[in-house]
This record gives sequence, structure tokens and C-alpha cells, in this order.
Amino acid sequence: MNPLQPAFAFNIPVRIFLGTNPEIAAGLKAEHTVVSLLEEVPVADAATEETCSLENYLALPDHTMDDRIAAARHKLGSQVLMLGHHYQRDEVIRFADATGDSYKLSKIAAETDAKYIVFCGVHFMAESADLLGRQDEQGNTIQQVILPDLNAGCSMADMAEISQVEAAWESLEKLGLTDGLVPLTYMNSTAAIKAFCGERGGLVCTSSNARRAFEWAFERGKRIFFLPDQHLGRNTGHAMGLSLDRMPVWDPWALQGGQTRLSLQASRIILWKGHCSVHQRFLPSHVDQVRAKYPGIQVIVHPECRWEVCQKADALGSTERLIQLVEESPEGSTFAIGTEIHLVNRLAKRYARPEMGSKKIITLDDSGCLCTTMYRISPQHLAWALENLVEGRVVNQISVKRSVKKWARVALDRMLEI
Ligand code: SF4
Repeated sequence: MNPLQPAFAFNIPVRIFLGTNPEIAAGLKAEHTVVSLLEEVPVADAATEETCSLENYLALPDHTMDDRIAAARHKLGSQVLMLGHHYQRDEVIRFADATGDSYKLSKIAAETDAKYIVFCGVHFMAESADLLGRQDEQGNTIQQVILPDLNAGCSMADMAEISQVEAAWESLEKLGLTDGLVPLTYMNSTAAIKAFCGERGGLVCTSSNARRAFEWAFERGKRIFFLPDQHLGRNTGHAMGLSLDRMPVWDPWALQGGQTRLSLQASRIILWKGHCSVHQRFLPSHVDQVRAKYPGIQVIVHPECRWEVCQKADALGSTERLIQLVEESPEGSTFAIGTEIHLVNRLAKRYARPEMGSKKIITLDDSGCLCTTMYRISPQHLAWALENLVEGRVVNQISVKRSVKKWARVALDRMLEI
């Protein structure tokens, strides 16, 4: 049995408990993060248990959900805002009111008047929507944010746990390195990590505004402690003129982060040893291969890719920027894109049409760079979440604890200000 379901399938007023089923081991850390940050949520009414049990939905094929999603969406009208990240599957994203990368979606979430935000993305994005949502006088978020599948975590965010980060900071403090050290976290991190940064004078950034955030931090301190994506940190620092030896990597599993006192003292950016399991799959050899096969092709990649890949690429950019590069290119252009496969396939389909410029778009690595946690949001989960809403039940609400919310919001607000 799916350990996520008992709390909903039976009418037991409990906090969500996500167990230790080895079948979901890959997403386990994410689930623990969700548990630690969730507050009590409404549970299903026994009278309608049968129609609203997720198992009933999961037994049905994808295409049978289409009409149900559309009907529920219609009934809910402007009460609901559906946000879809670019890496979502086609069967889900086509129902979204707005699509975008995490930065764009967080801004939309901060501005909406809708009562419910159904976030088709991963849990740190839903957390950010809850953090940025409109608040009442007591500081409670007025909107309710729903993540259709709580298993939709992010392996990168899981690589920086708050206890590890606190321990690292303590070690750096003992070395006398925290004076002038500005903690900065990528949006792809838990709310607790965002709060950690906010409380210590730091902020959040996305791949769209990382450089501006780094400049902001260097105006206030001499060194940056960057979490959790080493690649985005290295690529941004390098683009700002820093040499690689000024950006040591802190390994949370090694003594003193696996670094000497000297290398840490000489650093300008201390990078956390985290990465995106999707983007790290792209290799420099993939760039060489597509260039050999398609002379003249432009290679454009996400800055979560390795530094060696980014060095070989023609351009780097957030998902929004990658889309823009394709959009602005002349008719007949060819691109190999290093990012998640759903976005690449969608762009390939859209721009192959003559009226869109007959542009050829391929993935940089055709072995399939799929984000498996994004993929967990299925049409069945979406229909289940929406139909429950129609019945007045909020399922899978993401609500960040107030103690975490205060400083995480500060870190996010600083980002929105830059
Ligand atoms: S693509 Fe990478 S960073 Fe984005 S949600 Fe998936 S694992 Fe996380």
C-alpha cells in the first residue's frame, strides 16, 4: 500500500505520515522534509471516501482523466490557480493557467487572488508559493497551496539537510570564517534552508537571477556560502571572473567539509556538494558528439549542468531563457538543449511547424534526461486533488511552519527586491 494514502483513505484526523517504504526510497528524503514542515490538513469525509480515494483514480488510464480535470477546473473557476512547471508532462501542463520556471511561478503565486494554488511542480516550489502567498494580519497565508502528489520532491533539495548545513556553519564559525560570510541558497532548497539564509543576512536566488544575487552578496560580505547546487554556484562565480580554486566544495559527509583551512580562507564562494541528478547527466562528450553530427548546431544548456559542459556550450540560461533563445532565433536554426526532456520535446514539437520557423531542436543527450519526481504529478493525482476541492476538501496542502516561514519569507523577499 502506498504509505501516503492511509491518512486520506480512512477518516482518521492525523498529521500526514509518510513511511519508509523502500519502493519510494529515491524520494524518501524529500518526504521527510515535507513531513517536518507540514501542519495538520483536512482529511477525507467517510461518506465520500470511495469516490475520492486516490487508489480509485490510479487504477484508471491517463486519458480518462481529461474530461474530469476540465470539468472540475470549470466548476472551481477563479477560486483556483493552476501553476505548471516547464518540466511537467504534457498531459498535466496543458491544464495549467500559467507555466514557467520556479522564479516565474513564484512571482505569479505571490500576486494571485485565487483561494487555492494547485502547484504542478515539486514540493520546494509549493513551499515557496505558500511562503510568498498573501498573508492575514496574523501572518497566516490566506491561500491554500496543493501539491497533487507529495512524493514529488527534488533530489537536489534533498542534498542539503538543515542539520548538515547548521553543522557546516558551526565548523566555519570555529575557523573564524563566518564574519562576512553571506549564505545564499538556490530556490531548489527546503524552506528550512531558505530560513537559515534569511536569518543570517542572506537570500534566495534562481538560475534567472543568480548573478544579481551574488553581486548583492558580495556588496555585503567577502565570501558566499552557496547551497545546494555546486554547478550553478561554480558557473555563476566563474562568469563573474572567479577562478575555480577560489570556489572549494564543502562535502557535508567529510571532516571540515573535506577542505583545508587554507583553501577555505582563500575562497570567495564555498560551494555545497549538491547537484541536480537530471542536469548532471549531460557530459562534455555529448556536446562534442552533437557538434560532430550536426555542424553549426547551437548548444544551449541550463546552468545546473557541469562547468565543463557549460564551458563548451554556446549559451547558458534558466529554462525561461532557453525558451527565449529558441524563440528569438532565425528561421531554420538548430539547437541541442541540455535540460529536462519534457521541455525539450515540447519545444521541438512547437518549433518544427513551418509557421513557427521550422527550427530543429534535439536533446543534448538522447538517453533521456527525465526528472522522475516532476513526473510523479500524474493526471490521476491532478484529477483527485481537483475533485476533492470541488467537494470542499483540501488534500495535500503544503503549509510551512510559522517558525520557518518568517525567515524564509525574508530570504525570498530579498530575492524579489533584487
Ligand atoms: S530537474 Fe533537478 S533540480 Fe529540477 S526538480 Fe528535478 S531533480 Fe530537482
